[in-house]
Amino acid sequence: MTKIVKLYLISEQIDKDGNRVDYKEINSILWNLQKQTRDIKNKTVQLCWEWMNFSSDYYKKNELYPNEKEILNLTLRGYAYDHFKQGYDLYSSNISVLTEAVCGAFKNAKKEMLNGEKSVLSYKAEQPLDIHKKCIKLEYDKNFYVKLKMLNKAGKKKYGIEDDLNFKIQVEDKSTRTILERCIDGEYVVSGSKLIYDKKKKLWKLNLCYSFKANEIESLDKNKILGIDLGIACPLMASVNGEFDRFSIKGGEIETFRKRIEARKRSVLHQTKYCGDGRIGHGRNKRTEPAYKINDKIARFRDTANHKYSRALIDYAIRKNCGMIQMENLTGISDNKEHFLKEWSYYDLQTKIENKAKEKGIKIVYINPEYTSQRCSKCGYIDANNRELRAVFKCQNCGFEADADYNASQNIGIKNIEDIIENTLKISSANEKQTKNT
Ligand SMILES: [Zn+2]
Repeated sequence: MTKIVKLYLISEQIDKDGNRVDYKEINSILWNLQKQTRDIKNKTVQLCWEWMNFSSDYYKKNELYPNEKEILNLTLRGYAYDHFKQGYDLYSSNISVLTEAVCGAFKNAKKEMLNGEKSVLSYKAEQPLDIHKKCIKLEYDKNFYVKLKMLNKAGKKKYGIEDDLNFKIQVEDKSTRTILERCIDGEYVVSGSKLIYDKKKKLWKLNLCYSFKANEIESLDKNKILGIDLGIACPLMASVNGEFDRFSIKGGEIETFRKRIEARKRSVLHQTKYCGDGRIGHGRNKRTEPAYKINDKIARFRDTANHKYSRALIDYAIRKNCGMIQMENLTGISDNKEHFLKEWSYYDLQTKIENKAKEKGIKIVYINPEYTSQRCSKCGYIDANNRELRAVFKCQNCGFEADADYNASQNIGIKNIEDIIENTLKISSANEKQTKNT
């Protein structure tokens, strides 16, 4: 798992005579490096174009594409790196990071650029400075410091800098502190990062990338599945197949909040439309502001609630020792699902569940939810009539009766449920044919 922490840097550069180097000087060096970065990036794009044109001509003549290594003796990005590692002040590893990034971006955008759907890649001023992971050194000595290898030999000579660039890190909160401590301890691994100039704060900001092993729980049973149904009667129901125990989120809390907020929204809209009150004369934006604020409030409530629900659900999965979660794949579901589901953004909830599951080493499998609400989790019989009452499931074959959402979650928690359902449907349609024929 890779994350980024934003660190504001204060220059601590000392020159060879032991005097502090003015931040202004460091600024001008880094601004120069930004210009050089932009230059190299745009020239790399140029190289990529040239290679592409050469390739298509080559293809016309030879009916095959040229091999980069045969023609250039190097890969294209290696060639670009080789081309630009001299003549600039940037440290070579950082140049290799940026030529690699540009070649990758060009490759990804090539088709769209050729079709005219995307304008040709071009890099504007104030490029972030790419820093190779080897060029970042964190230190702690009462404060946190970072040494950045930004300049090559020629660059150091040019600017009269002997050492790597040295900064003190502004640490304002405990979580940043913990992250830095773990990076220094080696518990977290620092990877390639970016240095960006923050115009407002007039400070350089290091977007430090670090990664760590997910906090996997070894003891979880990789084959034990928790099935999650995004339901009608309650927004979320989870259970392990064969177990009566279940985890559910009651819709009540969400519904109450929604009704309350919607009533307020209506009244505010009504007010602004008919009464005008004191807000008139301040322009339309001012008058409609409260309605927007309410939408914000709903979004915030949903975010907080989904965090809470996903955390509770993952705790349940761990209690149940489940190493796997099966959920409905919601893509492609549009109007046939309940209106309420769409409003409550299940995608957001699912994303949060997925992220938290990954942190614990729980695998997520998405399944096609079709027929999972019509199938009897006891005997496997599939029939739309099993759901005569929406909230209650009653099997027309074996008489099994249960909460409809619970029954669906039981089905969703079965390994290879899609294949099982497909087989059942095949057999029952074959049986039907046979009955007709006889
Ligand atoms: Zn049944």
